[in-house]
Amino acid sequence: MVRLRVVDEDGRSSAQRGQDLHRARDRDEARENLAAVLAPLREAQRCVEAAVAKPGRATPSDQVFDLLDRAYAALDLYLADLLNEAAIDPACGPRCSACCTDLPPILPIEALRMVRSLRAQEGGPARLQRAVEQARAFQRVLLAHTGPQPKLDGTEPGYREAQLAWRRLGHPCPVLGDDGNCSAYEARPLSCRAHVHVEDPAHCEPNSPRFLIAERPPVWGHPRECEVELALATISKLLELPAAPNLQWGLALFLTPT
Ligand code: SF4
Ligand code: SF4
Repeated sequence: MVRLRVVDEDGRSSAQRGQDLHRARDRDEARENLAAVLAPLREAQRCVEAAVAKPGRATPSDQVFDLLDRAYAALDLYLADLLNEAAIDPACGPRCSACCTDLPPILPIEALRMVRSLRAQEGGPARLQRAVEQARAFQRVLLAHTGPQPKLDGTEPGYREAQLAWRRLGHPCPVLGDDGNCSAYEARPLSCRAHVHVEDPAHCEPNSPRFLIAERPPVWGHPRECEVELALATISKLLELPAAPNLQWGLALFLTPT
């Protein structure tokens, strides 16, 4: 359900908001907050390296998942601090979920973490089954837009068109709860965490004239921040986890225990 909240006009252009964010992330405190994200990720990487050095197939231990939990909790603090310091008041909030009809990009270890979280919750298996159905349905949409050999790359025009067509179909993310909140909030991927709007949430609806142009402050993407993605990608690669272009597809891939 979309909350029709009116966002205060603070008189800044999107470029000014971007500059304010840039200043916020250049503070010592922000650098320390980001270091607090990277430290557990590096430790998780060392744990995985030790596991893959042993004979047999390596699987991430509980310790690795605990370290990932610490990293994502620190990531939320990092993002909250940036927004606060840049005086950006996101329109996002509880039960605001028009954006949760998208196909969020996801890294393999994030998909595995999400599957683990869903398996542990009541109704999780049904959500995972819904993810499989959505992944299949999206493949059909993708083929209709790209031909038989689509590139599974979110920057490819054909994939983008298929993603937009999917968005217009309005299927809620399989992880979205009936109450309009993410049912695996702590396990949501980086792409969901860094998805922030400052305009009226109604503009996040595909039928809004501002759907494609609504402002999204650049809270993520600085080279220092990309180290987080790199660390997650390295852990995924060490574990030889298969890649997926989006959350639904990723959940479907990991439905069989890995
Ligand atoms: S991105 Fe849009 S729909 Fe999603 S939580 Fe933010 S304001 Fe609401
Ligand atoms: S994982 Fe959660 S936050 Fe992300 S799209 Fe799905 S329901 Fe929304």
